[in-house]
Amino acid sequence: MIAEVLAVGTELLMGQVANTDAQHISKTLPSIGIGVYYHTVVGDNPTRVKDALKRALERADIVVTTGGLGPTQDDLTKETIAEQLGLRMVFHEEEAEKLREFFKKTNRIMPESNLRQAYFPEGSIILKNVTGTAPGCIIPTEKGCIVVLPGPPKELVPMFDNEAMPYLSKLTNTVLKSKYIRIIGFGESIVEEKIMGYINGQTNPTFATYVKDGVITIRVTASGDNADNLLEEATAEIHKIFGNSIFTDENIELDEILVKLLRDKGLKIATAESCTGGLIAGAITAHGGASDVFETGVVTYSESEKMRVLGVKKETLEKYTVYSKQVAVEMAEGLHKFCGADVCVSITGVAGPVGGTEETPVGTLFVGVYYKGKTVANRYNFRHNSRENIRAVAVTYALNDARKAILEND
Ligand code: ATP
Ligand code: MG
Repeated sequence: MIAEVLAVGTELLMGQVANTDAQHISKTLPSIGIGVYYHTVVGDNPTRVKDALKRALERADIVVTTGGLGPTQDDLTKETIAEQLGLRMVFHEEEAEKLREFFKKTNRIMPESNLRQAYFPEGSIILKNVTGTAPGCIIPTEKGCIVVLPGPPKELVPMFDNEAMPYLSKLTNTVLKSKYIRIIGFGESIVEEKIMGYINGQTNPTFATYVKDGVITIRVTASGDNADNLLEEATAEIHKIFGNSIFTDENIELDEILVKLLRDKGLKIATAESCTGGLIAGAITAHGGASDVFETGVVTYSESEKMRVLGVKKETLEKYTVYSKQVAVEMAEGLHKFCGADVCVSITGVAGPVGGTEETPVGTLFVGVYYKGKTVANRYNFRHNSRENIRAVAVTYALNDARKAILEND
């Protein structure tokens, strides 16, 4: 099968942005026997996009478009494809609902124009966007399909690898298998640097890294009859590099892993949160059946409530300040006294943007975990992040510290 990458975006034509999306797609498709014969770049102009698409559809079986999926006026890829193919645009209520949810979660009012992102050419298969808002889609055609992807690389890469590739590999009857090696405790650039030497030009398996809420995923994908062996080898190599910073090799989230661990061991967990305002409890209870493992969650935001509900000592607050390991320890232990849960997680810290000091700048967090009569607290620093991001990363580290405490003490 022959593929063409059709990148839409005036910024690419003007040389302001390098076409790394096309590079990623071209590096990945050969692993499933699809040859990329053409790269086309066209500006945000409907007439020229239509023209380029017409040619691409004539000479390729699979056309992968990038860019122009956002909510603004110049984002017109889907509409233009629909027009060219003579397809109607169909409204998808569940996608609209996801958009509304996203805006609600980030406390913003959704401009009506964003609903454009919930319209797709009829017959489309929707591709979810885990790192942004605009979903992509696949439009099946007689010869193959058109894959429609967003422009920003951090959205395109996971969508292409995890959503589009499985579909395309079926078209070519290629066995395609993936591992999702997930790491906590390193930044994305350090992870990339450490595996660079090993990856070095390999085409089977292929590697891609992405980051979400402090979790780095290295997706390893192998194709062909030998896929299992290739994957096993690559996974072993990556384990040699990152050791027990890896919490899974599968496509599972940390909160699911913790809930499963608690359930398997018959343990109950409880949370005492400050700066995360209940997000840790939210992550644990996001899964059906959480009632088997979740005891209680308290949000003690003020110092007086930390003292009243959790028994944090006034002297501790005065001596070490509320942002300290000592307070995290007393919060976790106080929570255990309060509810008796087997695992008690606490968090205190500065999510910003204000409230930082020299000793505890914005992004400083203290996570405490009580388990089996022992309490350990860790200090973390996630500087240079937004409040929203600091809180999301904090949840990750808190869940991970709970997981580690259980594994290390059993
Ligand atoms: P958004 O929702 O952010 O508007 P979009 O799908 O509409 O996404 P564009 O508006 O076309 O995408 O591009 C958004 C940004 O993504 C560009 O400014 C550029 O930085 C990046 N980008 C777009 N196309 C590519 C590409 N082919 N390669 C690398 N980066 C790209
Ligand atoms: Mg755009």
